[in-house]
Amino acid sequence: MLDRLNITHQKTEIKDKVRELLPDGNFNTCLTCGACASACPATGILDMDPRKFVRMATLGMDAELERNPWIWACTMCKRCYDLCPMHLNIPQLVYYLRSQWPREERPKGILGSCDHHLKSRGGAMGVPLDDFTFTVEDLAQECREEQAGFETLKADIDRQGAFFALNQNSREPVTEPDELLPLWKILHTVGADWTYYSTMWAGENYCMFLADDPAWEKIIREQAEHIDRLGCKVLINTECGHSFFALWEGLQRFNIPHNFELKSIVELYAQWIREGKLKVNSDWNKTNIKFTVQDPCNLIRKSRGDDMARDLRFVVKQVVGEDNFVDMTPNLSNNFCCGGGGGSLQSGLNDERHIYGKVKFDQIMATGAGYVVTPCHNCHAQIEDLSHHFNGGYQTVHLWTLICLSLGILGENERVYLGPDLAEYGLE
Ligand code: SF4
Ligand code: SF4
Repeated sequence: MLDRLNITHQKTEIKDKVRELLPDGNFNTCLTCGACASACPATGILDMDPRKFVRMATLGMDAELERNPWIWACTMCKRCYDLCPMHLNIPQLVYYLRSQWPREERPKGILGSCDHHLKSRGGAMGVPLDDFTFTVEDLAQECREEQAGFETLKADIDRQGAFFALNQNSREPVTEPDELLPLWKILHTVGADWTYYSTMWAGENYCMFLADDPAWEKIIREQAEHIDRLGCKVLINTECGHSFFALWEGLQRFNIPHNFELKSIVELYAQWIREGKLKVNSDWNKTNIKFTVQDPCNLIRKSRGDDMARDLRFVVKQVVGEDNFVDMTPNLSNNFCCGGGGGSLQSGLNDERHIYGKVKFDQIMATGAGYVVTPCHNCHAQIEDLSHHFNGGYQTVHLWTLICLSLGILGENERVYLGPDLAEYGLE
């Protein structure tokens, strides 16, 4: 039971401002039905829920809303928005309130990631371009020399005229460089003509989570300009939901001109399998290991919808076997956020993040799956952490790992996320 509201001073500037900014921001029409609260995994955290939050706005409790820490626990996953009968945009109310905090007082982790990104013009981990370039060249060379079938593998940066531009979450080059190789090998296998780009090359965008519009825009605009200068036709977003959304939403929100099409690698995996370019199969899964998938909110509900979720399932079923796929309930666009979005991994609210994620953890455990496929870096980190925190015993795995495993091209050092049941598979 949440605490009762205690109205002292009334000031309705927040409600009025949001109504002015958003076509779906008239919170006076709230029916107080509570559908949002029952849809929300952040309900009860910090004694708050979305219905109560909206009530506070409509009742003019601006002082209590202005510095309410719950806005950093809400992941802006938009599940409440989809289920609200009045279609009230609660996540944008949260975004607006985040933007009103004095910048230097916003959560240090999110702020630091945004500032590192702006300063390095690479990614949130502040990696200088020289380091990224060295890692890419070194790994590609090693792969060419040591992995049979990849003697001509290319991994370029700023190759003029390449058809595909590829972004890269900076976590891989910094902390787990061997995770770069499976995706490169997939691109090599299908004969993709691709290049990384040097300006704002990383996919992640913590400035969006910081609700710093100018910084979010700068990252997207500089990327778009650079990709257009290279003449690339398609920008591939790697397996990362929030970076897809930051681009997809940012290009529209800031009216950024661009000549390329934005695609998720997930839809390209599906396309390449359908075209016979990726000859995956599930023969390797002889012991019928069960897999489930996490639908990243930013990639599914908030941007590309159920078509993308179906592509995701198509790919997973082709790779692990139709009978070895177990869906979570609920799923597709109605999926629950895992609690890793909205910058929560960097918000400092770790206890709250675990409480939030318990709903997802229970849904995963109910599938009985040994592996959760997570085509999103934030989902991946959060769902892996939930397994450790609540002793779930399941593994989290990228699609690129499974695809390469299925193709028989997964290298020995590229198995960090496989459990003991698959760590040695295909190496004998
Ligand atoms: S679901 Fe919509 S109408 Fe119902 S309480 Fe929440 S905000 Fe109000
Ligand atoms: S956006 Fe998600 S976390 Fe935030 S209030 Fe809505 S359902 Fe809850």
